[in-house]
Amino acid sequence: MHKRIGILGGMTAESTVTYYQYIVRAYQQRFGDHGYPEIVIVSVSFQQFEDWMEAGNWEAIAAALAQGLRRLHAAGAQVGVIATNTMHLLFDRLERASPLPLISIVDATVRAIERARLSRVGLLGTRFTMEQPFYAERLARHGIATIVPDIVDRHDVHRVIMKELSLGIVSDASRRRYLEIIDGLVSRGAEAVVLGCTEIPLLVRPEHTTVPLFDTTTLHAEEALAWAIGETGTPQGLV
Ligand code: GLU
Repeated sequence: MHKRIGILGGMTAESTVTYYQYIVRAYQQRFGDHGYPEIVIVSVSFQQFEDWMEAGNWEAIAAALAQGLRRLHAAGAQVGVIATNTMHLLFDRLERASPLPLISIVDATVRAIERARLSRVGLLGTRFTMEQPFYAERLARHGIATIVPDIVDRHDVHRVIMKELSLGIVSDASRRRYLEIIDGLVSRGAEAVVLGCTEIPLLVRPEHTTVPLFDTTTLHAEEALAWAIGETGTPQGLV
């Protein structure tokens, strides 16, 4: 029997849908039937979280996310994924507070970069993800350097996530802007680019670039699936 996966989602809904669909489709493609794991979704009301982030109220966010994890556990989830990169800046304390084991999106991404044997990557995400140390430090611990866009470009990357992608708006103009920013990262030495926001793969896909992309949404969802069906070894830290 597969383990039941818990998705703490709504951050944003566009991202949550991708996790659900990926897990189901990846299972079907691999096994040819509908025996995918059971999935429990707790979808938060995101506006409150956006307001808290803007106000820097990470205490309130941590408390609300811990409550979401307890709800997932109460609903029977046996492994949890917090379906957003940004909230992983609270990962260590959420993991301590969580009644169920969690898979980190940052760890899933680091494992993939290590498998590709790269040592210098660009990072796109919300301004919190690009400016706070939680990605860069974890990558550095594995000998991988992180390059982030300059302040003007960071502003544009963040704005497109919050004002467009999180509402399901995918525009050619924004894609061109992102590709320009990716070119800038590559010219500064990035061997690949981490799409460190779970909505960015809606806008930028491998066919748009020559440089490899790390799609954090897919990497995270894949680890949840692999763990639930016992296909791979238990990710580090999970029992
Ligand atoms: N889903 C996004 C991420 O991966 C941004 C939304 C949020 O701030 O949670 O970071």
